[in-house]
Amino acid sequence: MTVRVRFAPSPTGQLHLGNARTALVNWLFARHAGGRFMLRMDDTDTARSTAEFASGIESDLRWLGLDWDEFARQSGRMEKYADAVARLKAAGRLYPCYETPQELDLKRKLLQARHQPPVYDRAALKLADADRTRLEGEGRKPHWRFLLDRRRVEWADLVRGPAEVDTSSLSDPVLVREDGVPLYTLASVVDDIEFGVTHVVRGEDHVTNTGPQIELFQALGGAVPAFAHLALLIGKDGSGLSKRLGSLSLANLRDQGVEAMAVASLLARLGTSQPVEPKQSLADLAADFSFSHFGRAPARYDDDELTSLSARVLHGMDFATARPRLPDGMSEALWLAVRGNIAKLTDAAEWLPVANGPLVPVVSEPDYLSEAAAALPPGPFDAGTWPAWTATLKAKTGRKGKALFQPLRLALTAREHGPEMQVLLPLIGPERARARLSGATA
Ligand code: GLU
Repeated sequence: MTVRVRFAPSPTGQLHLGNARTALVNWLFARHAGGRFMLRMDDTDTARSTAEFASGIESDLRWLGLDWDEFARQSGRMEKYADAVARLKAAGRLYPCYETPQELDLKRKLLQARHQPPVYDRAALKLADADRTRLEGEGRKPHWRFLLDRRRVEWADLVRGPAEVDTSSLSDPVLVREDGVPLYTLASVVDDIEFGVTHVVRGEDHVTNTGPQIELFQALGGAVPAFAHLALLIGKDGSGLSKRLGSLSLANLRDQGVEAMAVASLLARLGTSQPVEPKQSLADLAADFSFSHFGRAPARYDDDELTSLSARVLHGMDFATARPRLPDGMSEALWLAVRGNIAKLTDAAEWLPVANGPLVPVVSEPDYLSEAAAALPPGPFDAGTWPAWTATLKAKTGRKGKALFQPLRLALTAREHGPEMQVLLPLIGPERARARLSGATA
């Protein structure tokens, strides 16, 4: 069996860490299993969906490194949903209802006052033809509900284990609105059947939907896929992330300089039994992907963990990967020297003048620096130059520790901290080093 999964965002907002995690887990599972990954825009809600959000989601997924083998837009598939609606009507599983939102609200309140669950009473099922004609004569248009079996629907959830929803505790879901627009519950199942989706992997906020949807798969004669419901992401203090989702959009994180592989490394492992560690490629993450690593407990997200992971991703990033985003003139040797000292890739550019000039040196102790310049060996420099040179200076001046090293670092790099001088000195080279030690810009 070829694994076929889909990520099905509603393009009514930006991609954030929560839904990016769903996308990533689907993708990793597909790649691990040699299967197919579909991107499906759930855009039947034309009032809230926009083309900008849809294209933003596509570019955010690409930034994360996720590619898709198939693409569909629900708004372009209306005739498929109409077919399914006709079949459900013919099978007696879809019935017209005429209550207004206010009437439904009143029914719910009455039930709640009697401490009963707010389940739709199926009053519309009891209408006679004459009632319907009268209601339609008054200008009412029907919405259509799916007649649930009212039974225990069970499935073996790949994350939650044995799971069940008792559909007698639910209202018959509305599948078609008054204006004829099919709703997600139906459109999703029709698409999952047509595209042969084998595994529905989504957030646990959809667990309850799974009961009616399994009934729908069966009513439409489709194969019921496997389900995996991922536990929610929460803040490190246990609070929900919903209020922060704006700042946790992928676009925002990218603008802050967070590495895509840091986001992926974190999202792939949060809420699993595997450690969060910086990975350099999605293939690495896909290699040992398994639903068995995922737990039922909410996954805790921490900004600081993402920030430090991003730095650690940079520390291990090879030159070929970094190069397209580095400024011209940044050599492999310089990248390897500075990558361990930066928090964002764009910070690497600050080190370009250290190697290539021009740099205004910071001269703290001119006499010591001229002594150092005199002791500087002729080029070319290599990794042995710095230890040999500073050993000589130590013997000559009696300086040690910070007093020995810091004036040299300040003159040669104009910075108090940075990569090891042993690595930087050969990149600076004899000419620039000599000039800087004498206080000249070079
Ligand atoms: N459009 C739905 C959502 O964004 C998809 C849910 C599903 O994967 O079935 O929540």
